[in-house]
Amino acid sequence: MTTVRPKLSIDGLIAELLTLGKISEAEPPVVTRVVFGEADLRARAYVKNLCVDAGLTVSEDAIGNTFARWEGSDPELAPIGTGSHIDAIPNAGLYDGCVGVLGGLEAIRTLKQLGFSPRRSIELVIFTAEEPTRFGIGCLGSRMMASVLTPEKARNLRDKEGRGLEGLRASAGFDGPLERVALQAGRFAGFVELHIEQGPLLEEEGVDVGLVTHIAAPASVRISIEGEGGHAGARLMPGRKDALAAAAELILALEAAAKSTGAIDTVATTGVCEVFPGAVNSIPSRVRLETDIRDIDGARRDRVIDALQAACIDVEKRRGVTIKSELVNADPPATCDEAILAALEDSAKAAGRTYRKMVSRAYHDTLFIARIAPVAMLFIPCRGGVSHRPDEYASPEWIGAGVHVLARALAQLAS
Ligand SMILES: [Zn+2]
Repeated sequence: MTTVRPKLSIDGLIAELLTLGKISEAEPPVVTRVVFGEADLRARAYVKNLCVDAGLTVSEDAIGNTFARWEGSDPELAPIGTGSHIDAIPNAGLYDGCVGVLGGLEAIRTLKQLGFSPRRSIELVIFTAEEPTRFGIGCLGSRMMASVLTPEKARNLRDKEGRGLEGLRASAGFDGPLERVALQAGRFAGFVELHIEQGPLLEEEGVDVGLVTHIAAPASVRISIEGEGGHAGARLMPGRKDALAAAAELILALEAAAKSTGAIDTVATTGVCEVFPGAVNSIPSRVRLETDIRDIDGARRDRVIDALQAACIDVEKRRGVTIKSELVNADPPATCDEAILAALEDSAKAAGRTYRKMVSRAYHDTLFIARIAPVAMLFIPCRGGVSHRPDEYASPEWIGAGVHVLARALAQLAS
C-alpha cells in the first residue's frame, strides 16, 4: 500500500475540460469532434501539449492512438495504463471520454507533484475513434490494438462520403503500417479507465464512484427486408408483401426474445428503421433495420440473436418477403480483474470515498483492452444519467473524487 495523499488541482482540470470542450465542430457548448476532423486534430494537439508540459513522453501509432508515458524506475516492466477518448459524437457534451483522459493526466500530475516515483511506468492512452460516427464501428483504436479488427478490414473502412481510412489517417498525419497497431498480451500490466457512468445509479444513490466488474457485450444485427410496393388504395390486403409490416414483427420478436431471458442485464433495441419509399399512400417495399443486443453473459446474448434470426426465417416464409440479416459485430463481454478492482476498492476506502460495484452497460475501449491486459473501470456520476447530449454534466466534486481514487490506485498498481 502506498501512503500517497494526492492534492488535486480540480480547478485547473475543470478549466482544461472547458477549454477542450470549446474545440468543437459545432458552436459551444455543443461538442462535436469526429475522428480525423479538424476539431479532433486540434483537440489532440491541445492534450498532447498538456502531456508534454507534464513531462510525459508522447508517441503515436499508425491509427493515431496516443501514448503519454511517465517512465518508472524499472522501465523494463510492463506499464500501468489509464486513459479514454476525446472524440465526440455530433451534438455531444464535455465529459464523455474527456474525463478519463484529462482526469488521468491530472492523476499523473498530482502523483508527480507529490514526489511519488512509480516502479512501473504509467501510460496515459488516448484512443482513436471510440465513437462509431465516422466509420460505423466503435472503439476503432482499441479494437486494432487488441487485434479484434484486422489491418486488412480496417483498410476497407470508409466514411459516408466514401473517403477511406487510409487517406483520412494519412491526411491527419498518421502513417506507417497498420500492422504495428496491434499490441501483444502483456503490453500493459493493468489498465484502468475513468469514465462518467452515462446512467443514473451513482447520482441516485449518492455514491462517489462505481467500480465496474463487467462490461456488457454489444452485438449488432443489420436486417434488410424486400417486399412488394404498390398503391396503398388500389392494392388489396390479400397477397400483400408489406416490408414494414414484416419489420414490425421482427422488432417485436427481438423485444420478446430479450425479455424472455428473465435477466435484467439482457437488453435489445431496434434503433434504425428506414422505410422505402416512405410515402403515406405507398406500400413499403423495402425496410432496413439496425438492432443492438447486449448482455454481460455472451452466450445468453447470442441466444437472443439466434431467436431474432429464427424470426427472420419464420416471417420470410409467412409473408413471402425476402429477409437478409447480417451480424455486424458480436463482441464478447469483459470481466474486470480482481486485483485491479481490489486496488480501486483500497483507494476508495483510503480516500474516504463511497463506492459500489456495478456493470457497464455501455461499452468502452476497456472492453477491447481486456483482451490483452487485466482491466477495470472507474465510474463517476453524471447528472440525471444524461450523456451524448450537450447538457451532459459531472460536477467538479464528482470529477475530483474519481481522479482522487484513480491517482491512489495508479500509485498502488505501479509500486
Ligand atoms: Zn466514452
